[in-house]
Amino acid sequence: MTDKFAIFGNPVAQSKSPPIHQQFAEQFGLQIEYSRIFSTDEQFVDDLKRFFTDGAAGCNVTAPFKEQAFQCCDKLTEKAARARAVNTVFKNPDNTLLGHNSDGVGLVTDIVNNKQVTIGNRHIMILGAGGATRGILEPIIAEHPASITLVNRTVARAESLAAEFADLYTIQVTSTTQPEYVQTPDLLINATSASLSANVPLEDTGVLGANTACYDLSYAEQPTSFLQWANAHGASQCIDGKGMLVEQAANSFFVWTGHTPETTGVIRWLEQNCGK
Ligand code: NDP
Repeated sequence: MTDKFAIFGNPVAQSKSPPIHQQFAEQFGLQIEYSRIFSTDEQFVDDLKRFFTDGAAGCNVTAPFKEQAFQCCDKLTEKAARARAVNTVFKNPDNTLLGHNSDGVGLVTDIVNNKQVTIGNRHIMILGAGGATRGILEPIIAEHPASITLVNRTVARAESLAAEFADLYTIQVTSTTQPEYVQTPDLLINATSASLSANVPLEDTGVLGANTACYDLSYAEQPTSFLQWANAHGASQCIDGKGMLVEQAANSFFVWTGHTPETTGVIRWLEQNCGK
């Protein structure tokens, strides 16, 4: 039997999720059909419900629909409830929809397991306070960092996010335009969307220490604007979000099938085929 999956987004034509999941399925001899579905804010909920009524097994959801998907799932995993955003939907045997968020697991798996960068007991700085930051905070906190500083253009947004996680961790907050840092970060994570418009979210180059590794959730064929900036100002390591993309997909695949795919070869494939 061929199980049906898809990714919903707007835009979605650029998504590499279909070939990534096909490669995972091949590892286990599974037959899957994984398509891209373009939707709109007005149509998304109806499109999602129709997809599952028509017999689909699961789907991924990308920008800008993760919050809407969170609203319309019947049940949520702890990670989705904390993130208040859903990027993975699974149809339970009783036809209810389970919402999950695999972004944070994907990021931390790539940073810690694949790139061998330690989060535990290190100073972590995160640029951005949008949906992606909300999804990655809990898995980062679970690694027991020495400190977390949220830096955002709109400080009030970072303050409210820090307040939401106050039961788990005391997060420091500052602004990208007038930053006041307490700690030089060991790891600087760009979770803004600035790279998508070739911008750099932080002008202050004094933030980077000799041992600061930089990670951009965004990715492209060439190094992103943030990673070019980081490289030019002495970052010890520059990593983009291709590994995160594959690892969050692997976690979604596990939720749907119970299988844990091998990701190293798929990340290598993505590095060679990102712009194609
Ligand atoms: P949101 O729109 O929810 O948030 C965007 C954030 O970026 C806000 O904090 C915003 O600041 C900030 N920002 C945008 N432009 C600038 C700029 N020019 N200078 C400074 N700050 C800026 O986006 P998401 O959180 O959903 O996504 C963020 C990024 O993460 C995207 O590029 C996305 O592609 C990537 N991503 C990658 C994944 C992967 O698998 N590799 C998975 C998920 C996301 P303000 O609040 O002031 O507006």
